[in-house]
Amino acid sequence: MSTASAIKAAATDMATGWAGDGAVQDQIDATVKDGIKRARSQLPQGPSLEHCEECGVQIPAARRKALPGVRLCVACQQARDDEETQSSGYNRRGSKDSQLR
Ligand SMILES: [Zn+2]
Repeated sequence: MSTASAIKAAATDMATGWAGDGAVQDQIDATVKDGIKRARSQLPQGPSLEHCEECGVQIPAARRKALPGVRLCVACQQARDDEETQSSGYNRRGSKDSQLR
């Protein structure tokens, strides 16, 4: 390899590196924004339930106040979150959201 082409190759690597960093940062920004949007779209709507719709246990008033529209007790919410995280992951949640729109 000649010196000239070696320099050119190095310059190309550098340019690619910069572009790569930008793309990764853009993707991180998009992921964060998407996550916030998703979290907001999943906020329960309507009046809070006094009893968990899953197991019927009474939902503490403090929880209902903190989470307007809450429908599940802590245990069931946790179980549901775990289930969604494990079985669907990010992508299915995304597609589920888009079906809702
Ligand atoms: Zn429950």
